Amino acid sequence: LVDREHCWHAFTPMAEYEPLLVDRAEGVWLYDHQGRALLDGISSMWCNVHGHRHPKIDAAIRGQLDRVAHVTSLGMSNSTTIELTRRLVEVTPQGLDCIFYSSDGSSAVEVALKMAFQYWRQRAEPEPERSLFLAVGNAYHGDTLGSVSVGGVSRFHAMFDPLLFDVLRGPCPDTYRLPEGVRAEDACQHYLDQYEDLLNRFSGRIAALVVEPLVQGAAGLVMHPAQFLSGLRKLTREHGVLLIADEIAVGMGRTGKLWACEWEQVEPDFLCTGKGLSGGYLPVAATLTTREVWNAFLGDYAESKSFFHGHTFGGNPLGCAASLATLDLFEEEQTLQNVLRQGAYLEECLADLREHRHVGDVRCRGLVAAVELVENQHSQRGYEWSQRRGHLACQAAMERGVWLRPLGNVIVIMPPLCCTAEHIDQIVAAVKFGVSQACGD
Ligand SMILES: *Cc1c(COP(=O)(O)O)cnc(C)c1O
Repeated sequence: LVDREHCWHAFTPMAEYEPLLVDRAEGVWLYDHQGRALLDGISSMWCNVHGHRHPKIDAAIRGQLDRVAHVTSLGMSNSTTIELTRRLVEVTPQGLDCIFYSSDGSSAVEVALKMAFQYWRQRAEPEPERSLFLAVGNAYHGDTLGSVSVGGVSRFHAMFDPLLFDVLRGPCPDTYRLPEGVRAEDACQHYLDQYEDLLNRFSGRIAALVVEPLVQGAAGLVMHPAQFLSGLRKLTREHGVLLIADEIAVGMGRTGKLWACEWEQVEPDFLCTGKGLSGGYLPVAATLTTREVWNAFLGDYAESKSFFHGHTFGGNPLGCAASLATLDLFEEEQTLQNVLRQGAYLEECLADLREHRHVGDVRCRGLVAAVELVENQHSQRGYEWSQRRGHLACQAAMERGVWLRPLGNVIVIMPPLCCTAEHIDQIVAAVKFGVSQACGD
């Protein structure tokens, strides 16, 4: 009752909220207060990596606890945070040599935006006219006002419009709902042309372009055409615009490489990571950037060139200890190989759902899969959101022991990266049952 009356849940209609209490968890399993086991089909909001209560991550946190739980990053440091910094510089794409820590993904994006803005004002040859941001249609970058400004999911964001700064917006590079008359093989160029047009029209005025590489999470797991990301990198370089890669959802192995940017050999100017960085254990996020950006913030004290931004718990040693153990486990448990193997198996198992007359699309990338429910397969018309078909399907899946949370009409499947073929079997069976319950056979 306290939960229903006093605890305000994120993105949850509280008027009809029915509490689900998880008492403990182990591996991919969540156990509720009645002892019921539920397979964690969305990695506790896309962030769990190696499973819950992994002995190695638990031990790393306990070990750190015996040393120090927290020291501020304002003007001081500690050896665990330093070690994570060294590792992240090593494992991220070339050029990302400087790291700013925060506690959540929204802040990591906020930091990238503010750094990019300040960079253009302070660098050796300043270009203060570069004050605009270019963002992608239907993007999601978090819920603070800066990250909402670059976001474009109208159902979440429209209400706050009067509070937001103006952003230039390109199209959403959707591969399922293509614009009229555009063929799949031409889609990438079609979308890139529109970005090029914006970059030309606002030449010299754009500070940075921000994008979720390969898969747009909250938009409904929209998947980009191949070479769209590398195309954006080429265009932004030509126009001298910084590229911010929001890897909060797709990074940390989710797509089968540690970073989604690696699929297209993209080296962004900023990389934001969060969610899975600590294995999904603790609130840790980071914004990585280049020496070029860093250098613009150096100067005499009197010049006031510092980055005036900070989060109390940024670089927290307990979180950094969990993150280091998480990175170690990628090698010890060959996690990326497992993502590719189980991802391919998941795709194979879901394939026959495409035949269902109310399944418009099944799309997969690593251990990300989306089953999109539609009213009409041919017109691709989705169900009215108020019918909550995705929600109904996920509720039914829970009867089969799998916990899922949809995005509108899209059933989201994002199991922990350590999952096995048996786990995939159970998830797929539950999803198929859910689809038939929500939409008929
Ligand atoms: C979850 C998410 C965020 C926001 O992260 P929080 O930790 O919830 O603030 C930003 N960008 C993307 C792509 C995300 O998936």
